[in-house]
Amino acid sequence: MAQRDDRLFHPSFSTDPWWWDAWRPSMERGRRDVPARADVALVGGGLASLNAALELARAGTSCVVLEAKAFGIGASTRNGGAVSAGVNVGKGLGGLRGVEDEAEKRALLTDAAQALDHLEAVIAREGIDCDYVRSGRFSGAFTPAHYRAQEKQCERLNAFGGSEARMLPRERQREEMASDFYFGGMLVDRAGKLHPAKYYGGLLAAAERAGAVLVSGAPVEALAREAGGWRVSTPCGELRVEKVFVGTNGYTGKVTPGLRRRAIPVASHMIATEELDPALAASLIPNGRTLGETKRVLCYYRLSPDGKRVLFGGRPRFTEVAPETSARLLHELMVERFPQLAGARIANGWMGNLAFAFDQLPHMGEIDGIHYAMCCNGSGVGMLGWLGQQSARKMLGGGNRQNAFDGRPFPRQAFYGGNPWFLPIVGAWYRHLDRKDRRAAERGEG
Ligand SMILES: Cc1cc2nc3c(=O)[nH]c(=O)nc-3n(C[C@H](O)[C@H](O)[C@H](O)COP(=O)(O)OP(=O)(O)OC[C@H]3O[C@@H](n4cnc5c(N)ncnc54)[C@H](O)[C@@H]3O)c2cc1C
Repeated sequence: MAQRDDRLFHPSFSTDPWWWDAWRPSMERGRRDVPARADVALVGGGLASLNAALELARAGTSCVVLEAKAFGIGASTRNGGAVSAGVNVGKGLGGLRGVEDEAEKRALLTDAAQALDHLEAVIAREGIDCDYVRSGRFSGAFTPAHYRAQEKQCERLNAFGGSEARMLPRERQREEMASDFYFGGMLVDRAGKLHPAKYYGGLLAAAERAGAVLVSGAPVEALAREAGGWRVSTPCGELRVEKVFVGTNGYTGKVTPGLRRRAIPVASHMIATEELDPALAASLIPNGRTLGETKRVLCYYRLSPDGKRVLFGGRPRFTEVAPETSARLLHELMVERFPQLAGARIANGWMGNLAFAFDQLPHMGEIDGIHYAMCCNGSGVGMLGWLGQQSARKMLGGGNRQNAFDGRPFPRQAFYGGNPWFLPIVGAWYRHLDRKDRRAAERGEG
């Protein structure tokens, strides 16, 4: 185990997500026996499946959510709670690298914007108390060249996604954060933040209220086609259904090999500081935005809903490492941005898995007759919930227009069978490129 430095770690340091102080996954939630029949089985109990289940159950369709472990154990209660819903579609400056066609870009951005509307509507309709605020988001430019690329991205986001975005030059950056770390950046008003574990808990309760059956400790081990549908096997029993939806994202396993070959699991890590001096805390992010940046290996951060702590995330390693190691690396990155936090100790440090597609786009559709929604590249709180709901509508046979993410080619690479052995190499290479870009920018060459 990595050595713990008392100056860096609070004595009560925990490897649980800080969010779990308010709502914690537990095997007590959900039943343990699998019903014999239903219309739809949903594999995985995260935001994608729960949004799908809520939609199905509200339409009177019988559905069973099968979660391998405890409900809420996946990324959906571990994330930063930033709801960027659309703005981060097709990461990369200018966005949507690899999508050549302008009409297609327009359709993707226009449809992605619906994710925020969907999330806000569900929270309001179901009365979910999750500290949701339309806070807006500031994305810092890591180099002047990135700032120029953001100017183009800003135009496109406003034209197609109604993002209410504008540029903030470096000399005005302190309006948004007590730091000069970036070369200005993009401010997006149409974005929000929430408490992810409280949101998840509220959604789980809403799905159950609507009539969805929730089964915990039920890893799906086999999916077999048979007349009229599917046989779904778990250690808790077998279920026969007409349709199957898979929402396993960064935890996708061998039971769906076609998806496992396409969704690359990547670790993301977070820390929460101890409670800060109130004046210091209030000075850091004065307008309460969520913060991100344009680096390849980006950091994302925000204040806790009570405004007392900084929650800081990133991918200092792309795979699982000792929590003490990733926490120390994240602390260094945090202090690079906010030197005034050098003395702030770490109260919690945790990680979770998200999934990237080879084209860096979110995906929904059908593969081998199985419905799925996955791969939001670290921005799934709004997006995957919406794609889950869209998948449910499709399964219901609703006449809704097919959205731009539905059924797009979900690429795979010949060399990849589901074991992301290359991630440490890719991570190290990206970090090297980031350092090189930054050094050039500091010499006035970027
Ligand atoms: C540290 C971190 C920070 C993040 N920050 C943000 C953020 O600020 N904003 C944002 O928009 N997104 C963020 N994300 C991404 C976001 O959390 C995810 O995109 C989203 O929660 C994925 O939801 P999901 O329902 O697809 O999957 P998950 O919530 O991961 O759920 C998948 C579930 O499937 C279960 N499962 C797997 N296999 C089986 C099986 N065979 N049978 C039954 N169950 C199975 C797993 O146990 C798991 O519970 C972050 C992610 C991480 C890890």
